Amino acid sequence: MVKAEQVCKDFGHVQVLKGIDLEVLNGEVMCVIGPSGSGKSTFLRCINHLEKVNAGRLYVDGKLIGYREHGGKLHELKEREVAAQRKDIGMVFQRFNLFPHMTALENVMEAPQRVKGEPAVVVRKRAAELLERVGLAGKMRSYPAQLSGGQQQRVAIARALAMQPKLMLFDEPTSALDPELVGEVLDVMRDLAREGMTMIVVTHEMGFAREVGDSLVFMDDGIVVEKGAPREVLTNPQHERTKLFLSKVL
Ligand code: ATP
Ligand code: MG
Repeated sequence: MVKAEQVCKDFGHVQVLKGIDLEVLNGEVMCVIGPSGSGKSTFLRCINHLEKVNAGRLYVDGKLIGYREHGGKLHELKEREVAAQRKDIGMVFQRFNLFPHMTALENVMEAPQRVKGEPAVVVRKRAAELLERVGLAGKMRSYPAQLSGGQQQRVAIARALAMQPKLMLFDEPTSALDPELVGEVLDVMRDLAREGMTMIVVTHEMGFAREVGDSLVFMDDGIVVEKGAPREVLTNPQHERTKLFLSKVL
């Protein structure tokens, strides 16, 4: 579903991604851990072309992201074509970024209506089902300010799912939550994984990574230091840098 080949990203003269090679299979849940500034968010943002890579290639569902290859050269896609690629990729951030003036239901309905132009009745039905699925059947008419952080994040997940993506990217979705609200968001993500969604999850929740992840990647300083089965990486890390990081967070 996702293939990264030698992905490099610089900001000015700072090299943030230094050649990332990764593959995520259909239905796989890949968790990503690593110190602050190691490039985790940048990598996720490259996958949906919120950042342009400086070198290397990213494929989602077999499609080269952001570019068209022609005669051995890469040509940048038009904004409209990039938007079409992004429809397949849902993203959930640390901050929930809901529209404050819209109800939960309206938030979930917004993108399918605006981007895909789907009819309101169809979108409303799907949005209601999604809110039910994330445990918010009773909160459809609530505004973000009337919801807890965990509830807002679950609306954000439902909103991403409303576009019927093939891939979901999560960037520390529980880091901004009070500890007692983390579980309800992780439960929704666990259900999503069980239903077969392909997911890349940047997280500090090692328990989640161990239980739900099919693979675990440790990133440091713009490279993939180690990738393996979560249990293996967490209990038997192969590299000193991984050991050092885990000794601080576990
Ligand atoms: P954290 O765990 O703190 O979220 P991260 O692993 O997600 O960290 P990134 O946000 O990807 O790290 O940042 C990697 C590096 O890239 C950092 O040094 C950061 O300062 C730099 N960086 C990120 N975005 C930009 C930008 N738009 N312009 C310049 N530098 C940036
Ligand atoms: Mg980050």
